[in-house]
Amino acid sequence: MDALVAKGSGKIAVGFGGNPKEKSAVRGGPSFELIFNIDHYLRKKGIRDNFELTFFAPMEKPGARMGKKALTATQKMFDKKNIGKRFGKKIKTFTEKGVLFEDGSELTSDITMFISAGTGSAILKNSDLTLSDSGFLKIDDYCQVVNHPNVFAIGDAAAFEGPQWAAKQGHIAEKMGEIAAYNIIKKEQNSHKRKSYKEYLSILCVMDTGTGASFVYRNDKKQVMIPLPIVGHWMKQGWGKYARWTKLKQFPKIV
Ligand SMILES: Cc1cc2nc3c(=O)[nH]c(=O)nc-3n(C[C@H](O)[C@H](O)[C@H](O)COP(=O)(O)OP(=O)(O)OC[C@H]3O[C@@H](n4cnc5c(N)ncnc54)[C@H](O)[C@@H]3O)c2cc1C
Repeated sequence: MDALVAKGSGKIAVGFGGNPKEKSAVRGGPSFELIFNIDHYLRKKGIRDNFELTFFAPMEKPGARMGKKALTATQKMFDKKNIGKRFGKKIKTFTEKGVLFEDGSELTSDITMFISAGTGSAILKNSDLTLSDSGFLKIDDYCQVVNHPNVFAIGDAAAFEGPQWAAKQGHIAEKMGEIAAYNIIKKEQNSHKRKSYKEYLSILCVMDTGTGASFVYRNDKKQVMIPLPIVGHWMKQGWGKYARWTKLKQFPKIV
């Protein structure tokens, strides 16, 4: 990136992929954040007009899982910031020149950043645990691995079932941890009480755009998108530092 900026012009492509067998194993948020931040960075340097930025994804409406409001706002932002779109095209391969799509068309770029969709870890594939088609741990509503009464799985390692828009996220991993612990305790107490992770599925993100951010929340009942100009960018920066410092035990955990 530094070399391209020093050159003063170029083409940058950013995108993400989907896993048709595991719709929740997708990670689009960071790619949106990256392209908006690259746009902001180039504008600050006064060289944005010399760069061609393009966002690519195999689905027709990337970001649709965030909800209608967020999708519309994101599309508007692409147009406002003059970011090209290549949507609904399956990716065949990446080349030195850029991205080659299955329909034979090409997207030329000097830098390509792509976040692939996930599949289960090799360690799971080599285990005797019950897996989904894409290699994640198959769990019931209570986070217990199917056919393994004493094994529970939470977070990214587990195959999510539920709404089409569900996505593997940090707050869901934490909630599943609580739920799995609760269900294990109840099981040990011979109680029939159980909690289901599906009740807590939601999308929650603060999408940083460099100049601000958008707060996005979605569950089965509501879809919220709140623009946070200027302050949102600093909130996200602050959250990153808070998360890091609390993990390193350099700052007390408040939430
Ligand atoms: C770039 C990016 C941005 C994201 N942004 C957001 C966001 O804004 N909001 C949000 O909610 N979520 C976000 N996520 C998703 C979130 O980070 C994950 O959903 C969450 O971390 C899942 O938690 P986990 O504990 O299941 O897995 P992880 O956090 O991946 O933890 C798994 C741990 O297991 C370790 N491990 C792996 N294999 C082995 C092994 N064989 N032996 C021992 N240890 C092993 C790994 O090193 C890792 O520490 C983002 C993810 C990425 C990559």
